[in-house]
Amino acid sequence: MTFALPAARRYALRQARVLGRMLPKLIPPLDFDGFATVDIFVDEGAITKILPAGVDDFGETPEVAMSGRIVLPLFVDVHTHLDKGHIWRRKRNPVGDFPSALAATLEDRSANWSAADVAARMEFSLRCAYAHGTTAIRTHIDSVGPQTRISWPVLAEARERWLGRIDLQASPLFTIDHLANASHLADIEAMLDAYGTGILGAAIRMEPGLRDGLRILFELAERKGWELDFHVDESSDPAARSLKVVADVAIERRFARPILVGHCCSLALQEDDERRRTVDAVARAGLSVVSLPMCNMFLQDRQTGRTPRWRGVTALHELKRAGVNVMIASDNTRDPFYAYGDMDMMEVWREGVRILHLDYPFADWAEAVSASPAKAMGLDPGVLHPGSAANMILTKARDFTELLARPQSDRVVVRNGEASNAKPPDYAELDALEGLAP
Ligand SMILES: [Zn+2]
Repeated sequence: MTFALPAARRYALRQARVLGRMLPKLIPPLDFDGFATVDIFVDEGAITKILPAGVDDFGETPEVAMSGRIVLPLFVDVHTHLDKGHIWRRKRNPVGDFPSALAATLEDRSANWSAADVAARMEFSLRCAYAHGTTAIRTHIDSVGPQTRISWPVLAEARERWLGRIDLQASPLFTIDHLANASHLADIEAMLDAYGTGILGAAIRMEPGLRDGLRILFELAERKGWELDFHVDESSDPAARSLKVVADVAIERRFARPILVGHCCSLALQEDDERRRTVDAVARAGLSVVSLPMCNMFLQDRQTGRTPRWRGVTALHELKRAGVNVMIASDNTRDPFYAYGDMDMMEVWREGVRILHLDYPFADWAEAVSASPAKAMGLDPGVLHPGSAANMILTKARDFTELLARPQSDRVVVRNGEASNAKPPDYAELDALEGLAP
């Protein structure tokens, strides 16, 4: 079966399964997995009403029989690297670990990342994400040396081009030691003023200049009214505790804008007491935490010839239990940090469920790919509600195992009431770029 949406701009999805918690108000009864069965009315690209199945007369309204199939909100991908994506073929990671990923990427960056190269690869990733049903993306932009002034104008052009289709946010990425160079921060500030989206960020780890570096970044963010986004403790060393430092600094300074932290891998390997103190501080500071399960499992605990012993992911359940806004995202796509990926949040969700045990109950974690990252990005809450654009994903699954057992390659992405025919681009389109020919 396929879901053929009527050509009419007005129709009703009959007997669709939608998670009760993703509806603006509860529509009982909910099934075992937490789904309500509802009729969704669409008119001129907007959802006009969502009612318990069968309570309203459809009259002349064309119907689409969903027969209990699941309808999802569009996805939000809050941590990506669009500037690094798809360089794998010309710059592989020779062993698959973090130091090799970093070294390979730096080499490729200085050799090949012209504005045209970054723009083409960014566009490729955005088309993938769009085809898979993503509505908002935050990307990190490598912002070091001459690259800063090359990449930010490219980001701003992409953001402009995708306006109304994908809401694109960006945060600069550099390590704290670059702050020793006075022109570095001036460059960042100038680029963010001209092309940024009000988010400042960096990659942090335990290092002598950590507190000073954070003070400089918090001060700049406070002066500008910017949000913050950090790569934190992407490491298997339990002594990597910069997450606690960020939380403490945010509390001390009473920082009022949103802060998102990504990775925080080492938190999972710390002693229980230590972890508890950090989780409490993260909750008190109001940080949001994004785990990157596919990339973490790829890079962490990798030693040639030795089977990995841990999955590389942070203590996401403990953070959630403490009331922290938690979520998962893509991270890298076909680059030395992660050899795979397609900017497909359905894949991230599938893999996240397996790697992080985001099940039992499944419904508790479904928001980790939509509502929770939307909240972290300050966007629409990712629920289906009357008055909003008819943006949704129609699947053939009727429960969570049907949804998560298959890749949902036959999902229908509906934007403004119309079925999208967008497909992920052919890899051959990248062949024209320097060094990417087959
Ligand atoms: Zn990252």
